Amino acid sequence: MRTLAAFRAYRPTTVDRITQALAADSSSYLLKGPRGCGADELLGAIAQALVGTCGGCGQCPSCRAVADGEHPDVLWAQGEQHKSVPVEELRRIVRFASLAPAQARYRVVVIPDIDTLRLTFPVILKALEEPPTATKWLLSAALIGAELAPVASRCLTVELEAPSDSEVWDRFREYKLEPSELLIRWTRRRLDRVELFARLTDAERYLSTYEELPGLIRDDARWCMELVHRLTPEDLGSVSASEEIIQCGLEILVASHADSGDWLRRAARASTSLKLHLPIQVVLAELILRSG
Ligand SMILES: [Zn+2]
Repeated sequence: MRTLAAFRAYRPTTVDRITQALAADSSSYLLKGPRGCGADELLGAIAQALVGTCGGCGQCPSCRAVADGEHPDVLWAQGEQHKSVPVEELRRIVRFASLAPAQARYRVVVIPDIDTLRLTFPVILKALEEPPTATKWLLSAALIGAELAPVASRCLTVELEAPSDSEVWDRFREYKLEPSELLIRWTRRRLDRVELFARLTDAERYLSTYEELPGLIRDDARWCMELVHRLTPEDLGSVSASEEIIQCGLEILVASHADSGDWLRRAARASTSLKLHLPIQVVLAELILRSG
């Protein structure tokens, strides 16, 4: 987990905004920035700064406890990636937020991706409105729709910038990777994609297979089963990570074959199925099989 000081080397404006917001001593903060901009890490860095006497050094026992999810005064909402935090978990958060800190100056509640709380946010609204003086709420979102305006209006909003190319580059290097131009381009300045690509043993092969898909099928349609295999990473370990790499592949396919109505339709259909979390085999079948 990067500290605020480490982030400052790449995005000084973002960190200045956060520092100013913290000085304003609001009870709740909303970090708003594009997907993959590192909002989760920034939430963690702010939590470290709020509960430690060090200002968030990243090294002391308090900071390490925050990073390991073991600090008694910091509660991270538990939910699956890109899915809504369950209502029972939100109730647990409200109870936690109502208590006095055990050790630190503040109790800190962290809820990333509140865009997923469109239906359940009323559970936290009252607690957010009238927090005990020693409780801080840290939220993040990529998009705030009209439904979430009541949450946003109760928070001090801090706008985050996307990472620069050099930040993306350095992030690859932290994973001991020398990224190709293809990887850099399809990271689309998202740190979550850097992490995703770093987890694949052969990310470039997946990305270039999507680029070449129409040609591969034209050459020999009997390769379809083999293609499904080549388009489905096996070493990611989670459905959401597999979905994300396929989503990235669809973006590549659309960008590489923007002049083909047939492939645009196939990609759009597959993308819809992916968003509905249909099985990955169904998504790929829609992509590969001829639309007729
Ligand atoms: Zn520290």
